Amino acid sequence: MRVANDTVVVFDYVLKDDQGRVIDSGNGTEAMAYIHGHDMLVPGLEKALEGRQADDHLEVAVPPSEGYGEDEEQDEVRVPRSSLPDDLDVEPGAELEGTDEEGQTETFWVVAVEGDDVIMTRTHPLAGVTLHFDVTIRKVRAATAEELEHGHPHEGPHGSHHHHHH
Ligand code: ZN
Repeated sequence: MRVANDTVVVFDYVLKDDQGRVIDSGNGTEAMAYIHGHDMLVPGLEKALEGRQADDHLEVAVPPSEGYGEDEEQDEVRVPRSSLPDDLDVEPGAELEGTDEEGQTETFWVVAVEGDDVIMTRTHPLAGVTLHFDVTIRKVRAATAEELEHGHPHEGPHGSHHHHHH
């Protein structure tokens, strides 16, 4: 079966930056799994996987415009640590979700912790970075009706720790 909309794709990958530094390689034990055509991957990688099949090996360079976007400067915000929940991990690089005035969910990344202040940004840490993916496809299969309804595959790192509360 080939990768197309509503197929579950399981793959191993290594992600490097322009300098060849490894940014991410899954967690080294479990392959990544996603449902194709549902904006679960950065657009450039999803496009490259279209039409491929199990055992294919791809090296894909994804520019920021098809990755995590351009690096926007000047959007850092400084908030007191005490305004954030106590149990939140506020290490640099941590991803936090907040809600804006209109009730929309916004994602912030912690840039730094300075004294009692936390500096956060809306800019993804990989914005402005050309992403070099080295991908090996392990499996391609049709998504089940349940997976499509839930909007995630029932295997891979997310599937295996998945709570069925629907
Ligand atoms: Zn589910």
